[in-house]
Amino acid sequence: MAGTVKAAILRGRKTVETVVEEGRKKAEKVVEGGLNTVDTVVEVSFNTVETVMVEGRKKVESAVSLGRKTVEHALLHDRSTMQAAVLHGREDIRIESVPVPEAGPGELVLSVDAALTCGTDLKVFRRGYHARMIVPPALFGHEMAGTVVEVGEGAGGFAPGDRVVALNSAPCGQCYFCAHGQENLCDDLLFNNGAYAEFIRIPARIVAKNTLHVLEHVPLEHAALTEPLACAVHGFEDSNPHPGDTVAVIGGGPLGLMILHVAALYGCQVIAIVKHDGQVEAARQLGAAHVVQTSSIRKAIRDTRALTEKNRGVDIAIEAVGMPEAWQEAVELVRKGGTVNFFGGCALGTHVTLDTNRIHYSDITLRATFHHTPAICRTALDLITGGRFQAGAFITGHAHLYELNRVFEKLMNRSSEIKTAIVP
Ligand SMILES: [Zn+2]
Ligand SMILES: [Zn+2]
Repeated sequence: MAGTVKAAILRGRKTVETVVEEGRKKAEKVVEGGLNTVDTVVEVSFNTVETVMVEGRKKVESAVSLGRKTVEHALLHDRSTMQAAVLHGREDIRIESVPVPEAGPGELVLSVDAALTCGTDLKVFRRGYHARMIVPPALFGHEMAGTVVEVGEGAGGFAPGDRVVALNSAPCGQCYFCAHGQENLCDDLLFNNGAYAEFIRIPARIVAKNTLHVLEHVPLEHAALTEPLACAVHGFEDSNPHPGDTVAVIGGGPLGLMILHVAALYGCQVIAIVKHDGQVEAARQLGAAHVVQTSSIRKAIRDTRALTEKNRGVDIAIEAVGMPEAWQEAVELVRKGGTVNFFGGCALGTHVTLDTNRIHYSDITLRATFHHTPAICRTALDLITGGRFQAGAFITGHAHLYELNRVFEKLMNRSSEIKTAIVP
């Protein structure tokens, strides 16, 4: 009996063991299958989450961009007035509420991102007018870049949101001088002012001939340097330079510094002749090989010549001060066969006395470059876009539109500022 029971127990145990073993195997399979399913589910949902995130980000970005454009549009159209600097006369600039400009046929309205102070504006601030450029009361400022907010009928090539630099003038394209490729001397140069403001209207002719798109990587305040840089490039190119030439630049103001920087980038040996401490450092940073710091014309001539072989004189001398004495100084700086450029415009009615013998027997070329042409404006913007030109070095301060008077007063006291970006 006992043997039968024992056998039965043994059999029973084996059956139980088999059942347990099979059960474990089944359970393991289920767990494994479940894990794989979970892995797949997790991976699929990750991908879904990523797709949703990417799409969501795109949607948010496009909404932000659309929103910005809508806001800009609303800013322009839901407001009838804007803040702008109005020149009333000598040292009399007032920030006033004036009507927001509207774009007529062929015209643009830009929201101003940055307007730069300029020596010409400083002159106008001191004198209260500029015969060719501005007669008060008038909107003021001419170096700026901004964003298109309104496109007039037929102003082809521009759309709201475009980043542009609009030059301060455009030639007629019809007159004798335009026909001879001397658009800077156009009989009917159209000037535009009003850069120190929230918005500015760009006349159709400037839209058609002198409004340039600015690439995304170029800050608009750098692009605003296009106008003065065009003048500098024009003056330099007109002086018939060759790489390796020795070039003396008289004057450490914004234009003098720009000319010397352009000359250095071109491969010339530049001697900067400046007065103030701040200008010495700026001239060095912008590539001057030598800096002569003096307010004595005799010393400037002696020291500059001493920097050339056998006191021969420089190949090219460019005057960027706008004083008759400095014009005469420039003639004394050049070697036989050299070129002088009277780049700085002097006050109306001034005259100079020149040594006729020296000019004739030393075969000296005299030039005087004024303003810019549409082609040169494009060269200037290319220079800024290219990155070798140190645009940032020329903008030494930022100020709000409301601080404009203070900024000009500071500039009159010969601060070390080169240009201040006025942000409306
Ligand atoms: Zn200017
Ligand atoms: Zn013309």
